[in-house]
Amino acid sequence: MPDLGAISAGITSIKVAIDLAKELKGATSAIKDAEIKLKIAELLEAMSEVKIQLVEAQDENLELKQKIKELQSALARQDEVVFRDGYYYLAEPQDGKAEGPFCSNCYSSNNHLSLLTEVTGRFRKFGKYTCPACEQRFGQ
Ligand SMILES: [Zn+2]
Repeated sequence: MPDLGAISAGITSIKVAIDLAKELKGATSAIKDAEIKLKIAELLEAMSEVKIQLVEAQDENLELKQKIKELQSALARQDEVVFRDGYYYLAEPQDGKAEGPFCSNCYSSNNHLSLLTEVTGRFRKFGKYTCPACEQRFGQ
C-alpha cells in the first residue's frame, strides 16, 4: 500500500515549488545567472517530488476505490435474500451466518433480518417458529 501521507507530502513539495517560482518571478538583474540556475534546479527537483507523490496518491486512490467496490459488493450480497415458503432466507450461504429462516415481519417493516427460533414443547401449537425481535409466531 502506498504511503498514506503522499497527498500531504505532495502539498508540501508544491508549496516549495511555488515559493521558488515566486522568487524567480521577482528576481531582479541583481541576481546572477548562477543563482537563477540554482533556483531553477531546486524548482525542478521540487516539481519532480510532486510528480512522484501524485503518482503515489493516484495508486492509493485506485486501491481505495477497488476496496470500496469489493466492500459494496460484499454488502450487496449480504442483503440478498429469497422468499421461500413464507420465510426469508439468504440467497447465498455466508460463513458463520445462519441461512434462515428470517422473520418476514421484521424484514418487510425495517429491512432487518431476524433469525426465527424453532418452537419446541407444548408452545409448538402456537406456531413452528417465533421471532425474538417482534415476537410474531409463524407456521402451525
Ligand atoms: Zn420479527
